Formats: sequence, structure tokens, C-alpha cells
Amino acid sequence: MLPVDNHLHTRLCGHASGEIYEYLDAAARRGIREVGFCDHLPLYFLPPEKTIPGYAMSESDLPGYVSMVKSRARQAPVRVKLGIEADFVPGHEDHLANILASYRFDFVTGSVHFIDGWGFDNPAELAEYARRDIDAVYRRYFALLQQAALTGLFDIMAHPDLVKKFNLRPTRDPRPLYEETARVFKSAGVCVEVNTAGLRYPVKEIYPGPELLEIFFKYGLPVTLGSDAHLPEDVGAGLPAAVELIKNTGYREVATFSGRQIKFVKI
Ligand SMILES: [Zn+2]
Ligand SMILES: [Zn+2]
Repeated sequence: MLPVDNHLHTRLCGHASGEIYEYLDAAARRGIREVGFCDHLPLYFLPPEKTIPGYAMSESDLPGYVSMVKSRARQAPVRVKLGIEADFVPGHEDHLANILASYRFDFVTGSVHFIDGWGFDNPAELAEYARRDIDAVYRRYFALLQQAALTGLFDIMAHPDLVKKFNLRPTRDPRPLYEETARVFKSAGVCVEVNTAGLRYPVKEIYPGPELLEIFFKYGLPVTLGSDAHLPEDVGAGLPAAVELIKNTGYREVATFSGRQIKFVKI
């Protein structure tokens, strides 16, 4: 049995497919005890005319997402939690806090997908890497991730080394940056997501990689698991490898969330 998959999307975001019941059936078939839907929060930091189509649900879809997950949860073959994946963009914290306070989420996952307006994990914006210094990109990415954790708005930090997605690695030793990030995460009291989507991208490695995960473990940071499935076939994808990775690192439990309270499940 797999304890939890805390990162499932729904077709409301415009770049995922399948019905909620198909995700739940897939989870039951794969022996996953609990799932957390974690669809992309509307792009609250952009004016409506500048929104990115097919990136996240629209603001008008958010109440429907919440009620759809809640109603499906009542007849589901596995335990279902209501989460949301919220982008962090500095300067918009109050707006985000207001949206999050309007719903009873089980957990809020914080992500950095934008570096000062650049969608660095979007294949359509890959060319920008050639114009940048990769070490500066890593520094800025982790600085934003630390700033996100310190807002106190997030329970879980998503795919913490997403910046490696295209396998463009820093030239300088990233360990000091990793250590600093772990220290900040610890003081912010956040949980780290071990996300298997990296296995399906050019980097072919779980987020976080073993070196970063070891540092998170050293600082006593809790972990949860997520496949980042955008289609039912990907529910639980790579999770056995993620469990093996965290066990080899020393973890003996993973975190789950209810009403924004953390609980631990033995692995
Ligand atoms: Zn997505
Ligand atoms: Zn994400």
C-alpha cells in the first residue's frame, strides 16, 4: 500500500484530462490510501486580461472545484483531501491570503513557477535560459521559494528543486543554497513535497534530488508525496521510487493533512 498521493490535478486547470472518479479509481487500483486534489489556484496575481489560458482554473471555477472534490469525496473508494496549488508571486500575499481564507482546504501547497515573470518551467519559455546565468537562476529560484515559505500561507512546498526540470544544472556547488533553504523551511514550519513529476521530464529525477532531500532530513523537515498527475494514468506514478528514496534517506513517516493540520503515517 502507498500512504498518500497529495498532488492530483483536475481538468479545470485546462492542461489536465480525465474525470475525478477516474483519478479515484486509479488510486484505488494502485493501492493508495489517501489522495489530495491540488489543482492550480486561479492566477490571482495577474489582471484578468493578462491571464495565461490553459494554465489554471478561472476564478469563477474555484467554488465549483471545491464542491466537486468535496462531493466526490463522500463516495470515493479512497480517502480524499481538498488541497490547492498556489503560485507564489511576491507583492500579492494579501490577495492570496484572502482567497485561501474563503475555503476550507485540507492543505495549501506553495509553488514557484515564475521567476520575476519568467515561466522558467514552461517549455515555451526555455530559450530564456540561454540569456541567463544558470547560477543566478538557481539563486533567485531558491530565494523566492524561501520567501514563499516565510509568508506562512503554505503547508507544503511543492517540487522544491523544480528549477532543475530541463536538467540545466548549476556550475557552482548548490549545497550552501540547499542548507539555507532547509534552515528557512524549518523556521517557517513547512512540509516538503517529494514530487515524482521530475521522473517524467528531461531531468529524470524526483524533486527534491537525493542531495537536497538529505539536507531536508538533517533539518528534520517533514515530507509528503505527490505524483503531480495531470491524467488518471499518472496517479501514483513513481511513488514506489519516492518511498524508497525517502526511506533510504532515513524517513520513517510521511505527512498527511486535514483541515490544515499535519498528521504522520508510518511507512
Ligand atoms: Zn499543472
Ligand atoms: Zn507545480
